[in-house]
Amino acid sequence: MIKYLVFTVMSVTIISTASCHRGTETVETARSWDVDRFDDIKILRYEVPDFDSLTLDEKMLVYYLSRAALCGRDILFDQNCRYNLPVRRTLEAMYEYGEADRNSADWAAFEKYLKKVWFANGVHHHYSNDKFVPEFTENFFDELLSSTPQERFPDDYGTYQELTDIVKRVIFDPEFVPLRVNQQDGVDMLATSAMNYYEGVTQREAERFYKAMADPKDSTPVSYGLNSKLTRDGDGNLVERVWKVGGMYSPAIEKIVYWLEKAQEYANPVQKASIGKLISFYVSGDLREYDEFNIMWVQDTLSRVDFVCCFTETYGDPLGLKASWEAMINFKNIEATRRTEIISANAQWFEDNSPIDDRFKKEEVKGVSAKVITAAMLGGDCYPATPIGVNLPNADWIRRDYGSKSVTIENITDAYEEAGKGTGFLEEFMLREEDRERIVKYGSLADNLHTDLHECLGHGSGQLAPGVKGDELKNYGSALEEARADLFALYYIADPKLQELGIVTTPDVAWAEYSRYIMNGMMTQLSRVQPGKNIEQAHMRNRQLIAMWCYEQGKGDNVIEKVVVDGKTYVVVNDFEKLRGLFGQLLKEVQRIKSTGDFEAGRKLVETYGVQVDPELHAEVLERNAALNLAPYSGFINPVYNPVMENGNIVDIQVEYPDSYVDQMLEYSKHWSFLPSRN
Ligand code: ZN
Repeated sequence: MIKYLVFTVMSVTIISTASCHRGTETVETARSWDVDRFDDIKILRYEVPDFDSLTLDEKMLVYYLSRAALCGRDILFDQNCRYNLPVRRTLEAMYEYGEADRNSADWAAFEKYLKKVWFANGVHHHYSNDKFVPEFTENFFDELLSSTPQERFPDDYGTYQELTDIVKRVIFDPEFVPLRVNQQDGVDMLATSAMNYYEGVTQREAERFYKAMADPKDSTPVSYGLNSKLTRDGDGNLVERVWKVGGMYSPAIEKIVYWLEKAQEYANPVQKASIGKLISFYVSGDLREYDEFNIMWVQDTLSRVDFVCCFTETYGDPLGLKASWEAMINFKNIEATRRTEIISANAQWFEDNSPIDDRFKKEEVKGVSAKVITAAMLGGDCYPATPIGVNLPNADWIRRDYGSKSVTIENITDAYEEAGKGTGFLEEFMLREEDRERIVKYGSLADNLHTDLHECLGHGSGQLAPGVKGDELKNYGSALEEARADLFALYYIADPKLQELGIVTTPDVAWAEYSRYIMNGMMTQLSRVQPGKNIEQAHMRNRQLIAMWCYEQGKGDNVIEKVVVDGKTYVVVNDFEKLRGLFGQLLKEVQRIKSTGDFEAGRKLVETYGVQVDPELHAEVLERNAALNLAPYSGFINPVYNPVMENGNIVDIQVEYPDSYVDQMLEYSKHWSFLPSRN
């Protein structure tokens, strides 16, 4: 299941308060958030405000958890594709020790390629999943390779020849491992995906393998397959290689455990126990312990410091079973949390008044705990591309019986906002001044509120019909689940209840969100799709699905209109109230699809509205976007935590904000790299 709201806010979609004060000063302030820029990516830093408000024990806990967070980077590289580690290491050796004209275009292209590999934790684009195309010549590559001393290359993949052969094939052969995750209908998704969760196994075999494991009568099933690679043993039998101490990825997991044990010493008793359970899971690999940990974790709502540091999200597996490793160490933003506390305290009201069929409503909404957090360290699948909201755990039955924890990561959204100032995006793509003004005024609140509603109520709402397990929607499950949470947020952001609760003072907050959401879903998000491609990514499919469905259904009433002025296309919402009604209708249908596991209806909805791209509009968006010179994606470098020593004791932890993306990546590859090149 998918509980991540990834990239609703990006430098492109973010609409800040910039246009009302676009003086030099603002722009310069914004620039200081930018650390690097390459290809379609901008690297920013985030600040960790209020770190000094933590007690020394809490700071120590953050410090040690942060070190655990840095230990799983290699795991993710290997999970994304089994050639990623040898490729990264070879490129790094060439980058540091090879000889080339560093002012040449080839060198610039080579450096860009390496920066992209670091950003994506592998050779495939983090969002589109397509393999990167090198912009340097093979000749240049060969020369750089041969000028690099051989002892600088990893010696744990094979011979020098084997290593360089595979690296070159990965980089230069477009037919080889072209796509990280393929979710195309009607093909063997495992055979056509480069991810490293299965090897030598067909989709049918994998599906049968896990179906046979599951007991349909079990109401508290473990997350089968979550922490292992499915492959074959010497006799050709299917076997799981489990990620645990002594199993696959052991060298990295041992380090994670080491730092978690240190962290334990500074945790309160409740957290000490949950960290202990996590360690125990890493040692045993037993998925029941994973569930036990998640139950302890979700029930701990009082600790100021919190963390994610495990195999968590399943976006990278076409079958949605296997989880990538990720970490996010954080602490509660007490002031901003008041807003989410009001929302979650009223969770039952929202559930009862939802426009969905009564059969699919939860009678009793349990433990929706929502908070606003400050991220202190990002690792694995949260780094450098970072979510702005998280809702965990993912197991449906734990959510049903124990609730879930939902967070909005406000220092990350703040950093996006700052970086998005004064870009001219809004002026280019939003036709009506009234819409722009509304967004300038209320866009930031609307964004945070959307995230709150999506994460703390949307994902946790609704229930499955008896006998429905929750994985029936297969490769459409992610997009439909995100659509469900988005629709819940969109429907309720315009509810008078929010004014009654004192969260908003005007419907303009909702209308700001509506005009922006529809514009993004029908049009501007296409800037992140390569020419000639359709939409693959689940969140993008979800947004186009919602926007296009509402456009089509509202045609009779002209709810949403495409307007062309001076050859430029705009999307305008003419009737906000009616649009809200459409959001409610679609929410009802998507909930029905999920609750009944109606694969065919789900497939049709996604394929009809969420996948196909209008090539002409796509080209127009790319052209207008290029003229603005915006980076469609952003990511972050981490702060550094330095212990302050006195008489051999740590008396404080200080935060430092580095400003070099390259240095941080090289430092992580040198000092936080624990896996061999072949796993
Ligand atoms: Zn989500």
